[in-house]
Amino acid sequence: MKTWSEVAEIQPLASRIITNSIKKDRISHAYLIQGARGTGKKPIALLLAKTVFCTNKSGSEPCQECNACKRIDSGNHPDVHWIEPDGQSIRKEQIDHLQKEFNYSGMESNKKVYIISDADTLTVNAANRILKFLEEPGKETTAIMLTDNSQSIIPTIRSRCQVIDLRPLNPDAFRSQLMDAGMSDRDALLMSALTNNLDEAFSWNADEWFAQSRKLMIQWVEMFSGHSNDVYLYIHNQWMPHFKDRKQQEQGLDLLLLAFKDILYFHIGRQDAMAVFPGQGEKIEDLSMNFSQVQLLDILNKILEAKRKLKQNVNPTLVMEQLTVQIQR
Ligand SMILES: [Zn+2]
Repeated sequence: MKTWSEVAEIQPLASRIITNSIKKDRISHAYLIQGARGTGKKPIALLLAKTVFCTNKSGSEPCQECNACKRIDSGNHPDVHWIEPDGQSIRKEQIDHLQKEFNYSGMESNKKVYIISDADTLTVNAANRILKFLEEPGKETTAIMLTDNSQSIIPTIRSRCQVIDLRPLNPDAFRSQLMDAGMSDRDALLMSALTNNLDEAFSWNADEWFAQSRKLMIQWVEMFSGHSNDVYLYIHNQWMPHFKDRKQQEQGLDLLLLAFKDILYFHIGRQDAMAVFPGQGEKIEDLSMNFSQVQLLDILNKILEAKRKLKQNVNPTLVMEQLTVQIQR
């Protein structure tokens, strides 16, 4: 998605809202772009930044070739800055630091663009800092906040942003896209359940870390059917050392979610929908005997709750321990 007309094919509404505001020369001070992974948040943010700084635009389309466009693409435009969580959250100090840098650096113009990924991890102080900066007179500052977790955006942010909702992509269409690109049927099924991004799907599929994640997920689920008391040890010795940062821990929970969904699918005779265990009839049959449908629904809810806790910066080891207790009950 390198142009607004390409964005329009996948995210027509988002493209229309943003290009209209460009045409009217009324770009918002703050956008909140929300949508699941792979729906185009980052490409849209980049394109918007280019649209602000391009010196050779044709209509609302940036040229992609001028100095400004190239520097934005390579991530070193002096007036465009990406902010990402430092650990589990985006802290006020990060914003302060950035604003100092902006003020000292030889500005090329009065315009600034902040692109804030995982905006749901902004602390209240960091969010207030940004909002205050946006409202300083004489500055033409645009903040583009991105999130795949719109429920966790603090209200002061939401109410001050133009909210752009990205629509979800269709996993079945994506799955055939992956298979067309050479991925096996089975891998495509799992990958399309985890991401909407083609590059991500192929890189995960070839990745040693991801292969190990798959193994750990299956071992974890099997421990519950074996009534093993070693689950805690397993969390401390195997799970936590492998899933290190917040992104990885979330991915671990996504995998667990898929595994338990599969067991539920098996129960209701939807083997065709299974993403983790297709073709492993015996294993899934063993697993399914340990859980009733009601229990499985409850477990799925508990895993979603664990994901929310991670987002709220609860200690990840604690989250996994609590989840274990809840599933064992
Ligand atoms: Zn340009």
